Amino acid sequence: MLPRPKKRLGQHFLTDRHYLERIVAEIDPKPGEAMIEIGPGPGALTERLARFVTPLHVVEIDRELASALRARFAPEAVVVHEGDALAFDLASLPEGLRVVGNLPYNVSTPLLFHVASFAPRIRDCVFMLQKEVVDRMVAEPGTPDYGRLSVMLQYRFAMSLAFGVPPGAFTPPPKVDSAVVRMAPLSEGRPAARDEALFAQIVMAAFTQRRKTLRNAARALVDDEAFRRAGIDPGRRGETLGVAEFIALADACRPG
Ligand code: SAM
Repeated sequence: MLPRPKKRLGQHFLTDRHYLERIVAEIDPKPGEAMIEIGPGPGALTERLARFVTPLHVVEIDRELASALRARFAPEAVVVHEGDALAFDLASLPEGLRVVGNLPYNVSTPLLFHVASFAPRIRDCVFMLQKEVVDRMVAEPGTPDYGRLSVMLQYRFAMSLAFGVPPGAFTPPPKVDSAVVRMAPLSEGRPAARDEALFAQIVMAAFTQRRKTLRNAARALVDDEAFRRAGIDPGRRGETLGVAEFIALADACRPG
């Protein structure tokens, strides 16, 4: 029997077998892989992944669910980390880590940023999220969904929408459509900003006031000379800039 879902923890349990199998097929788990599942809940995905991957690490914030998982799986098969995935140190697990899960939708954006901060150690991620968030992750410049999340994740990952999942696949059904997204870290040789903190600040400024021109939105960070050096018209809006152009702008502020 399913435990009573706690709304504040974003608990919508995937109960449709067809979609459970499709997610497992998308993950394609293999023996010997290092894998962590975020938000295992009652363990429907966990059980299927643990048939292949030993040990499977899981991080679950709900104490009752964590202890039910400990009771159900042998400790050498599933290692249950009870706690907040937002504070979990993914660097404590082996490199080449695969990160998967049906994420709690109430904290999906901070979780994506947290996971992204470990990108160099990660082989790939397969996540289920609100479809609306996945649309923002994969959005192209100049489209309405394109924003800070798109730029900051596309800076580190190649991402693709795998397939959509309807609300009826969950118990209880969420109010929104869901989708499975695959994220693969870009290679070490990818274009990178010299000052990543500045890059992040410029992206933040560009999208906090997305209707403003870059000259106005990023005034405190980028001067006219830097726009000129980067070859970017300050009369453009941030939402029209691709990742490479944001990198060029940040680098033009710190000519090396
Ligand atoms: N994987 C299960 C499934 O597909 O049925 C449950 C998915 S449910 C959408 C999200 C799960 O994440 C819940 O079990 C919830 O308790 C857990 N959770 C919520 N916030 C969390 C956090 N900050 N850290 C770790 N787990 C969290």
